[in-house]
Amino acid sequence: MTVARTVAELRNYLRSHTDIGFVPTMGAFHEGHLELMRQCRNRHRTTVVSLFVNPLQFGPNEDFNRYPRDEERDFRLAEGVGVDVIFAPDAGHLTEGVQTSVHVAEVGDLFEGAQRPGHFDGVATIVLKLFNIVQPQSAYFGLKDLQQCAVVKRMVNDLNLPVEIQTAETVRTAEGLALSSRNQYLCESEQKTAPLFNATLRKCASSISQEPHEVEKALATCKNVLTTNGFDVEYVELVDVDSMKPTRVPSAITRVVSAVRLGKVRLLDNVPL
Ligand code: AMP
Repeated sequence: MTVARTVAELRNYLRSHTDIGFVPTMGAFHEGHLELMRQCRNRHRTTVVSLFVNPLQFGPNEDFNRYPRDEERDFRLAEGVGVDVIFAPDAGHLTEGVQTSVHVAEVGDLFEGAQRPGHFDGVATIVLKLFNIVQPQSAYFGLKDLQQCAVVKRMVNDLNLPVEIQTAETVRTAEGLALSSRNQYLCESEQKTAPLFNATLRKCASSISQEPHEVEKALATCKNVLTTNGFDVEYVELVDVDSMKPTRVPSAITRVVSAVRLGKVRLLDNVPL
């Protein structure tokens, strides 16, 4: 596996490669990341992974400085699943002096966009830069970050970017907790409680499937159960997955999305009906 540290190094490497699939990441790899890389490798001749903790997508009081970083381990894991080249630019290489920002309105302003002002501008700006640098045929994103998928798809559509967006289902622990680089911040007792988050969302989704006219009631019950179990609920909603707009009409393109805090850790998850 080749490691490229600058745009010039990556472009130089890619000059002799075709059929490029791309997986953007912020590192601290777990099975969720590795699954995206495997899917990419199975469908493309060349698999490019970026490892860049993007400062633009963190708010001033968020965990940019203590976000988990272990480059050597990440390189080993990526090489193990057959990644061809990893683009791991030095801090600042992609962001220093940048004065342009991409704002994806509406779909990017709800939920995570409202809770974390500027977050999706940071995501969209860096993803667009990475698409221009890598010029992949396809790029792979995890449905764990459902709204991020919707924002990226909207940007690709609105700006006519020549890249196909592929999404992959969330990889979980045996107990159902969505894998996340931030799970390592959970203390022992929080680790025991955390799987209840997904279990409660799944119950909510199944009660919506059974009683499609009682969406409001199912969401209220879900919120109550989470609160009773020690989760600090930011939102629980049934949304259309493309627009991220709340809906009361359950269908195959709706999901229950939620963000909660457990102690100091913010957990994000969503489930289909
Ligand atoms: P991150 O490094 O957190 O920015 O994530 C990089 C990519 O991996 C994003 O497309 C995420 O949605 C995806 N991802 C993160 N966690 C999971 C998971 N548990 N299952 C599947 N994909 C995931």
